[in-house]
Amino acid sequence: MRLALINIGQETNDFNPVPTTLRDFQSFGIYEGRTIVDKLRGLGQVGGYLEAIEESNRRIETIPIIRGWATAGGRIDAESLNFFMAKIRDGLKAAGKIDGLALQLHGACAAEGLDDVEGAQLELCRSILGPDVPIVCSLDHHANVTQKMVALSTAIVGYRTQPHDPLETAKVAAELLIRIVAGDAKPVMAWRKLRLLSHQEQFLTSKGPMKVWFDRARAHEKDKRVLHVANFPMQPWLDVAEGGWATVVVTDGDKALAEKLADEMADLAWSLRAEFQKKDAVPVDEAVRMADAAKAGVVVLSDTGDTVFGGAAGDSNLILESILRQNIKSTALVPMIAPGTVATLIAAGVGASVTLPLGGNATPFFTPLTVTGKVRRIGGGLVTVSDHHQREVDMGRTVVFDVGPATLLISELRGLAGNSPDVYRALGVEPKDYKMAVLKTASNFQYFAPITSEVIRVDTRGPGQSDIVGLPWKRIPRPIYPLDPITDWRG
Ligand SMILES: [Zn+2]
Repeated sequence: MRLALINIGQETNDFNPVPTTLRDFQSFGIYEGRTIVDKLRGLGQVGGYLEAIEESNRRIETIPIIRGWATAGGRIDAESLNFFMAKIRDGLKAAGKIDGLALQLHGACAAEGLDDVEGAQLELCRSILGPDVPIVCSLDHHANVTQKMVALSTAIVGYRTQPHDPLETAKVAAELLIRIVAGDAKPVMAWRKLRLLSHQEQFLTSKGPMKVWFDRARAHEKDKRVLHVANFPMQPWLDVAEGGWATVVVTDGDKALAEKLADEMADLAWSLRAEFQKKDAVPVDEAVRMADAAKAGVVVLSDTGDTVFGGAAGDSNLILESILRQNIKSTALVPMIAPGTVATLIAAGVGASVTLPLGGNATPFFTPLTVTGKVRRIGGGLVTVSDHHQREVDMGRTVVFDVGPATLLISELRGLAGNSPDVYRALGVEPKDYKMAVLKTASNFQYFAPITSEVIRVDTRGPGQSDIVGLPWKRIPRPIYPLDPITDWRG
């Protein structure tokens, strides 16, 4: 059989006004044709697809078309949207007759003027392939599932864990695609859209209400008639017309069972709605004092409001301001994304003492903080990373800048922000030598985990803030919980 492979991903944060451009995709590598397979064997969704093909022991020809991935951020610009649409169109047309499409997308991508990028991409694929070629669409579980996505795909598969399991999920999706093409499965889908949102503090699937909901999905899959159950707790920063959580059930030809389970999964999430809203985050000053007083480091200070992995701009100086004002006794690592500041510091040169405004360069959530520091090192570019869904990431030009007890890693590009120790080590900074490290994520603590003594969620404002009621929503369907007092997930 001949299968085409497309892998495109970006998670949009509508409260970050900085558009995501092709440069952000290039930072993680835009690959076409065989390069996709060569670069990503054993890694991420592409790696999972390839494992499934190899383990199937079938004669399968793969036609890899396009791969582009960017860190979460503002809406993708028109150039990025058009670029990937053209690559999909040209690639599928050039592929000739194919028997199935493995379509690996994020599911929560919006573009300038377009809420549902994945729906548009699916529409394009369908228009070229016709109604009968199976399309199995694998999505990040923070996706916003839309009517188009369900109508135009043959089956939808979602990540099963937070932190994500792209390789394993793509493998599940590819195995399903092979079964469908071989005539061994006849998928039918049922789905429910919930008038529900929550912040990200309860998003880990290893504990709390998310574990309950995801464990139930896995339990249903033990029934041979059930092909897949995917829960989609949409990431809480997508302000789009069809926004909200969803659950999708795929069964082997049993529509009634799919409908019944979809209702049950929606009811279960709704029954847990108050637990999903539970906040653990502590105020900024208190979090900094706790970290300073801790017996051992590295204490992770999770900057929830400025989560770069959740699409924030990485320009917050709130925790830095607290560290400097409270005059802490220990040392801290603070990452920041600020291209203009990088240029200023590079112009000053290594060893220079510089006074300049820092942070608040991208979003209206923060105002610049004037600091004086010393340029320790200039570097950046491609950084080799371990334990990630790819091997190298471009951070752009990057500067290590010491301000009192804080060592700042200021980069031009989003890359991995400061969420992996590898990014610091590439610049000669050993995170283990620091008492606390600010991470620009609210869930992805796994890269720092081997050297982490404790994680403190900090209740910071910003495009990723836990106070979702306080965000300036414009397009999300109302009423929706917890923004409005409603008693039924159907709204
Ligand atoms: Zn996600």
